[in-house]
Amino acid sequence: MLSITNLNKSFGKLEVLQGININIVKQGIFAILGPNGSGKTTLIKTILGLVIPDFGSITINDKEIINRWAYRSEISYLPQIANFPSNLTVIEIINLIKNIRPNTKLDKDLIDLFNIKESMNKKLVDLSGGTKQKVNIVLTFMSDSPIIILDEPTAGLDPISLIKLKDLLIREKEKGKTIIVTSHIMSFIEEISHDIFFLLDGKIFFNGTIEDLKVRTNESTLERAIANLLK
Ligand code: ADP
Ligand code: MG
Repeated sequence: MLSITNLNKSFGKLEVLQGININIVKQGIFAILGPNGSGKTTLIKTILGLVIPDFGSITINDKEIINRWAYRSEISYLPQIANFPSNLTVIEIINLIKNIRPNTKLDKDLIDLFNIKESMNKKLVDLSGGTKQKVNIVLTFMSDSPIIILDEPTAGLDPISLIKLKDLLIREKEKGKTIIVTSHIMSFIEEISHDIFFLLDGKIFFNGTIEDLKVRTNESTLERAIANLLK
C-alpha cells in the first residue's frame, strides 16, 4: 500500500530525515510520533509530494509517486497549518474545495457532528482556533479517499470534539481506510491506533505495536512508555 525506502531530506545543514523506512501493507490507523521538530510534518509532506526528498523512494500501491500527481486524488489530507484565505467564510471555503477537488460532497452529518452550522457565514479569520480546526477536519473528510493523512488533527479541539474525531476515525478505519495520523495526545493515539512509528533524530527510533512498546518498557500507558523510551 505505502512503502517508503531509505528516505532522506535535509534543509541546508539540518538533516531532518535520515534513511526512513516505512512499510504499511494493511488497512488501519498508523501513528507517526516524535518530539517537536523530529520531522513528522516533513515526512508527511514527502508522501504528499509537497516536500521533495533528496533521495529515497516512496510508492503507493506499488507506483513511485515522485514527480507524479494523480495519486493525490486517493488521499485526504489535513495539514498541520492550513493556510486558506482568511477573508473567506466557512461556506465559501467549503464550496471552493468542492469545486476544485473531484468526488467531494458537503456532508450534512459531518457538519452536524462537529457543530459548525452556526459558523457557516463567518470568515475564517473570525473563528476561534478550535472552530477553525473543526472546519479543517470537515474539509478533509468531505472527500471519501482510501488514504487519510492527518497532521495533528487534535490541535485545539475541545474534549467533546476529540471524542467525535476518535469515533469518526474508527468508523473510517472500519470502512477499510488506511489512516496516518500524528498527535501529541498519547491517550488519543492509544485509543485509535495499533502501530506506531516513533521518529527521533531523523530516524525511526521505534516501529511496532503500542502493546510491544508497553511490554518492552514495562509501562502501562503509551505516554509513559514513550517517556521511558527516551530516557
Ligand atoms: P515536526 O512535525 O516533527 O514537529 P517538522 O517536520 O515540522 O517537525 O520539522 C523538522 C525540522 O525541519 C525542524 O527543525 C524544522 O525547523 C525544519 N524544517 C521544516 N521545514 C523546513 C523548511 N522548509 N526549511 C527549513 N527547515 C525546515
Ligand atoms: Mg509537525
